[in-house]
Amino acid sequence: MTRPVQFRPHHFLCALGFQGKGYSDRFTQNMAGVVAQLRGPDGGNTRIAVTAQADSICAPCPHRRGQSCAKAAQIAALDARHAQALGLQPGQCLTWAEVQLRIRAHVPPGSLRDLCAGCQWLDFGLCEAALSELHRN
Ligand code: SF4
Repeated sequence: MTRPVQFRPHHFLCALGFQGKGYSDRFTQNMAGVVAQLRGPDGGNTRIAVTAQADSICAPCPHRRGQSCAKAAQIAALDARHAQALGLQPGQCLTWAEVQLRIRAHVPPGSLRDLCAGCQWLDFGLCEAALSELHRN
């Protein structure tokens, strides 16, 4: 069995909303690959392990510092809010399909203004649009 993708808690919703924007070309290319797997024909069965450290999306990020982040305090706050909203704990392993059910059950449209406060991508509206789309389908 292939090793699960690793996500820190706030990256579940980031993956849902990703539309090709990122911190650097390498970051964006890597995240596009991870997200393409989730959105592929068998993407719902992709296993994702929850981690409290740098993950599969952080790997090539210019802000990564070892297993931590140059913006560690801000990222920890984001992770804490998303973990609480989605009931995530480090060490859990979920499929992408299960994650989407949790998002639908616990993150109503309009939630991201508070849940993602401080994120530089919030004002683009792409993540909120993806969240609304998930609830419509
Ligand atoms: S607004 Fe930021 S933290 Fe929230 S889902 Fe989008 S990219 Fe992730």
